[in-house]
This record gives sequence, C-alpha cells and structure tokens, in this order.
Amino acid sequence: MQPLEPPPATTPRYPRIHLDPVSGRAVFVAPDRADRPLDQPGSTASVAVETCPFCAGNEHLTPPDVVRATDAAGSWQARIVPNRYPLAHDLPQASRSTPAKPGGDRAAHGIHEVVIESPRHERSILAIDPGSWEIVWRLCRERLAMLSTRPDLAWATIFKNSGPRAGASLEHVHSQLVAIDFVPATIRDELASVEAAPNTFETLVREAEAEGRVVESSGNLVALCPPAPRQPFETWIVPRHDAESFTSASDDDIAAVAFLTRALIGRLGRVVPGTDYNWWLHQAPFAHAAGSAATTGGYRWHVEIMPRLAQLAGFELGTGCHITTLAAAESASMLSKRD
Ligand SMILES: [Zn+2]
Ligand SMILES: [Zn+2]
Repeated sequence: MQPLEPPPATTPRYPRIHLDPVSGRAVFVAPDRADRPLDQPGSTASVAVETCPFCAGNEHLTPPDVVRATDAAGSWQARIVPNRYPLAHDLPQASRSTPAKPGGDRAAHGIHEVVIESPRHERSILAIDPGSWEIVWRLCRERLAMLSTRPDLAWATIFKNSGPRAGASLEHVHSQLVAIDFVPATIRDELASVEAAPNTFETLVREAEAEGRVVESSGNLVALCPPAPRQPFETWIVPRHDAESFTSASDDDIAAVAFLTRALIGRLGRVVPGTDYNWWLHQAPFAHAAGSAATTGGYRWHVEIMPRLAQLAGFELGTGCHITTLAAAESASMLSKRD
C-alpha cells in the first residue's frame, strides 16, 4: 500500500468533477481508477485468496481501516477501508472549491471507502451468516453517522456491485461507501417529489400492499416491487414510517434491512440463478446540508435493489426512460414464493 500523498487539487491525476454544460449532470473524472486490479475470469478461490486484498491475513494490501467490527476473540468480522482508487479525495480545506459552473470542473472532494463484508473469500452475501450480515449493516450505519456530522460533506450512500455485469472488479464480497459535498440530482428529484406530495412514500407502500407488490416484510420495513421497475425483479426496501436518514435507523430496522437483503438476494438467485445485481442506499442530505425540501417530512431512506438482467441500451441511455419485460406485480408474485 502506497500512502496517499497530500492531494494538490491541480494535479491532473486526482479526480475532478466536471459539470456538463447542457444537461448539468456531474461526471467524476478519476484516471487512476483505470489502474484497479481486476480478478481474472476463471480464477479459483484458492489462488485468489493469496493475493486478495480483502481476505484476512492480507490487511497490508489495503489502507488501515477507519472502522471495524470484531468478534469476541478480537478477529475482525467486517471492516471499512479507504478505497485505493477513489472517485474523490478527502481534500484539505485549502484545496476545496465551490461548486463548478456548468461546463466547468473542480477537484473532487469526498470520501470513497470499501466495506469488506467478510474476512473469508466469499462471493455472495448468502455465504455470510445472518448475525454477521447484520453486523455489516451496523458498521455501515456507524460510519455514515460519523460522516454525517462533517460540515464539508452533504450526502452519503452505500452501494453494492455484485458480479461483473454490475461493475464489480473484485469478487470478494464487499460494498462501497461514498460521501460527497453536493446532493446528487437523483436525490434532489426524490426530495422534490416528496415536497410536492408529502405522502409519496406512504402511498408507495400502501399501493404496493393493495396491489400485491409486497415481496416480504420484516419489523417496520417492507420489500416491494416499485410500480415502474427499470429491470425485472427490481425491489425496494422501504420503512413503513417516515425516517429520512439511514444513520438514525434503529437496531430493529438494521436487523430488518439485513434480513430483507439476504432474503431478496436468495429469492432472486432462485428465480434467476447467477444474476448480477446492484443495490444502493438513498437517504436525505445530512441535516446541516438539507434544504427546505428535506425538512418538510415525508422522505424515507430506502434501498433499491436492481438485478442486471438487461443491458442499458440506446433508448435508456439516450432518454433516461427504461424498457423492461416484466411488470412489477409479476415480479412480486415470483419473488414472493418462499421456496
Ligand atoms: Zn478474498
Ligand atoms: Zn430512491
């Protein structure tokens, strides 16, 4: 592991955020990510373990962890480490800059970390026992809570890429945590929907129940197929009560999200064996960064799970509209079968 040098914001190799002048979309340009190690297709687990940076015993291959969960014997069960190929750097104050104008760019300031979800070289979350899997979610909540108090950051997420079609570069089970200094357009859009209709999430859950689109529930959380899925078997995990930030999720809600993610990935694997998938956490901006939209109430953190069955093609990329082959109710009916 090479130590991160103090990042001069003008160095071209350091990530920058460019704003498209026409659409306003933000693009992170991070040239060093091209150097990421990739698992070789067909490599065996026993070969990979020797060089896998996420396996127990190879901790020297990652930067030191920022948080870890340990068992009674002191061995780590999960740990969160800085990403060696970050999309943004934790820049010193002097190197940070105000948001770029459309067409402009600036140094990318933020946090990009890897959540190593098991000390063993497992490929699937289903290989992690339920108790340890709950600990992973607790660790994520802990880290997100730490970051949520930083005045220089505005919003954070955790996301998972599972399998090559979902963008995973290493097979050892892991997810990623990103905290940035602006609120992405997707979240601004969701907040605007809730500002316009404060009962948006309440209605989402009620209609899913009425229309048979609830796949599973646990405690105060429900897993539902959203009415406008982008892929077959797309599923969202949503609290039944208003809860803007995942960082304030109760221990019961953490247990429920751990149970539901495990259950849904298990069902997905039975319906479409070997499916790659992504999931990501959507939550409100950090309290100090929230505009009026986030404080009107009604927003709920949620996890969106998207199987990667169909590639994004011209229409999707060109219009932002999706085409899928399975309506939500059919997906829910197939995913609801417990065996
Ligand atoms: Zn490994
Ligand atoms: Zn969302």
